[in-house]
Amino acid sequence: MQRIARIVGPVIGLAVVVVIVLRLDTNGWGSLLFLATAISTTAIRAPFERQNKANTITRKDNESSENLLLFGVGLGGTILPMLHLLTGLFSFADYDLPDWATALALAGVIPGLYLFWRSHTDLGRNWSVTTEIREDHTLVTTGIYSKVRHPMYTAIWLLFGVMPLMVHNWIAGVAVIATYGVMCIVRIPREEQMMVDTFGEEYRAYMAHTGRLVPRLRRSFGAG
Ligand code: SAH
Repeated sequence: MQRIARIVGPVIGLAVVVVIVLRLDTNGWGSLLFLATAISTTAIRAPFERQNKANTITRKDNESSENLLLFGVGLGGTILPMLHLLTGLFSFADYDLPDWATALALAGVIPGLYLFWRSHTDLGRNWSVTTEIREDHTLVTTGIYSKVRHPMYTAIWLLFGVMPLMVHNWIAGVAVIATYGVMCIVRIPREEQMMVDTFGEEYRAYMAHTGRLVPRLRRSFGAG
């Protein structure tokens, strides 16, 4: 089964790339940036997915609602845009943007990809797709995590936030803003509660000097 997936996966991937490139005139340059972003995030995540398969999970919260939220993000962030770029399914809801919109999207994509890579590297074996605790889980408070508690979610916001500039469609380019928004609103408080349950005072102290998605503004003077 795995052998079939190893062959079929790349063939489908290649076919998607070829069709999207051939439809460049219809979809515009943003579609190629979307494709490059999807390939880059998959490549950044792949080694961590392989490595973290060896982890033993000791706590996994709200499994079915987590899966539903992830499905929403997958639908808005990958399935609908890919389907539209490949077939023009939602073309009745297309809008026009000039070519410079793609250049503007780079303002989200470049820092987004950097932060996506950096947060995976800093979390290492503590990273997981869903909210869970593994055996020998360590609290990471260094690197990018010394500034923000959820840099990976910030990275994904940067990437999804510019989707409407890459996929010019009111459904396929915009849906992910809603589905990812819902996921963050539901998941972040749950994840933080799980971290407090696991690491107690250590996590509370960490929360006191970090921001959730953006670094906390520090007072530049005063008694500390
Ligand atoms: N919310 C973080 C991590 C996303 S990966 C971010 O946006 O960067 C999700 C998993 O990371 C959670 O299941 C939790 O187990 C783990 N995690 C989150 N913050 C962590 C930290 N500071 N140290 C170690 N593990 C952490």
